[in-house]
Amino acid sequence: MTTTTSGSTSERWLNYVNGQWIEADSGKTISVVNPSTLAEIATVPDSGEAETKAAIEAAHTAFQSWSTLSAYERSDMLMRWYHLLMRHQEDLARTMTAEQGKPLSEARGEIAYAASFISWYAEEAKRLYGDIIPATSSAKRMFVLRQPVGVVAAITPWNFPAAMITRKVGPALAAGCTCIVKPAEQTPLTALYMAKLAEEAGIPAGVLNIVTGEASVIGDTLFADSRVAKVTFTGSTEVGKHIMRASADTMKKISLELGGHAPVIVLDDADAELAAEQTLLSKFRNAGQTCVCANRIYVQKGIRPAFEKLLADKIRALKVGDGMDPDSAIGPVIDEDGLNKIQRHVSDAVERGAAVITGGSRREVPKHAGYFFEPTLLTGVDSSMLIMKEETFGPVAPIVEFTDPDDAVRQANDSPYGLASYVFTSNINHAIRLAERLQYGIVGVNDGLPSSAQAPFGGMKESGLGREGGKYGIEEYVEIKYISLGLY
Ligand code: ADP
Repeated sequence: MTTTTSGSTSERWLNYVNGQWIEADSGKTISVVNPSTLAEIATVPDSGEAETKAAIEAAHTAFQSWSTLSAYERSDMLMRWYHLLMRHQEDLARTMTAEQGKPLSEARGEIAYAASFISWYAEEAKRLYGDIIPATSSAKRMFVLRQPVGVVAAITPWNFPAAMITRKVGPALAAGCTCIVKPAEQTPLTALYMAKLAEEAGIPAGVLNIVTGEASVIGDTLFADSRVAKVTFTGSTEVGKHIMRASADTMKKISLELGGHAPVIVLDDADAELAAEQTLLSKFRNAGQTCVCANRIYVQKGIRPAFEKLLADKIRALKVGDGMDPDSAIGPVIDEDGLNKIQRHVSDAVERGAAVITGGSRREVPKHAGYFFEPTLLTGVDSSMLIMKEETFGPVAPIVEFTDPDDAVRQANDSPYGLASYVFTSNINHAIRLAERLQYGIVGVNDGLPSSAQAPFGGMKESGLGREGGKYGIEEYVEIKYISLGLY
């Protein structure tokens, strides 16, 4: 899997194509940097068209045999992979923290979450039922089969380097598809490590391929090739739109998990402690770099002072530091652009009249050159501010006060995004009525962490197309085939 360059602590990792660990033909590499220290920890191949085409060829060939295995055989291999992922949880988590920055405890949690998609879909492989439809004529029989779509290209982001892959590859492999994964440039090591374990689990050559390198070249090669039947993507709305356009000529099936701008609504009748705790979990996990994290916190007038104080106290208790330090709750953000965007959102809000309750600036961490930002609480925020329109992707919680719940719902829905939303209330009537009116694919009611392998995850509006997770997720990887049989 890797060769260590002599005299350096940086390791050289390789692509995984057709069961082989390969360099880019050009010999070029890209650097993988620890966002906490800014030290290079590894290089990966800077692959291009040749390696991508080799992966497509391999996946296309492997599809012929993988898709004709029984669901039970595929399920057994996926379960073996699941057990290996869990056996290597600690090492995988350390690899993830080194390349992504999140606290080690969160990385361990992500590995368990990622692995749960493999075990869940290993089970679901056995339940991909078809139908028999009553025919109008007694001389006909009508059957419906669910068949794998074919070769799947999966393009994944850096914020969840393991789970965003297994959420796609789990159902795809279970259904009988083969995959080419292009992980984010920043976090390819977790992906390659997981592929090594897939190889150990006995998943045959060509069924899972990982190609690292320049996104647009690899992407364009995948999108133009008619042997790729499906593209599944998690990332920005801008790139998602590009993928949709680029996939049109070969009419690929597409699933898109794009940006979000999650509203939280805290009603006067909420349990303030629970609301503050769950909002904290939603907002500050992964230093606020998740597409479902709380971005706009609408708090009703009566509960605002209590909620604000509870949340501020909890935020002040979050320690900022290197993810490997067991005390750290907030690691670095991924890069300088990310840090600058967070600072821009805070400065813009303050210029337009918001007040900083705690945090508000970059944090220097001794002996760490990386990009740390103080966990921040802003109050007096309004809809004119950038932070209320764009994803911040950082540890900043903006509070907006409201009086009328109908107005809060209107403001919450006034967004091009529709991924996740949250409601805190102790009144069941308010809970159901608000949840039904929120134009979001996910609503957490008194729950800041609703994601789970068996539940549908996905967005409305410009947050994307399709759902991942649960019985819904596997539907994205199957074609419906109708067979009409005339009897004689
Ligand atoms: P983020 O802003 O979170 O980095 P992106 O949408 O830029 O989100 O990236 C998500 C994934 O999409 C990454 O794997 C990235 O390399 C990939 N990507 C970015 N641009 C393209 C492109 N033009 N074609 C294919 N993949 C792309």
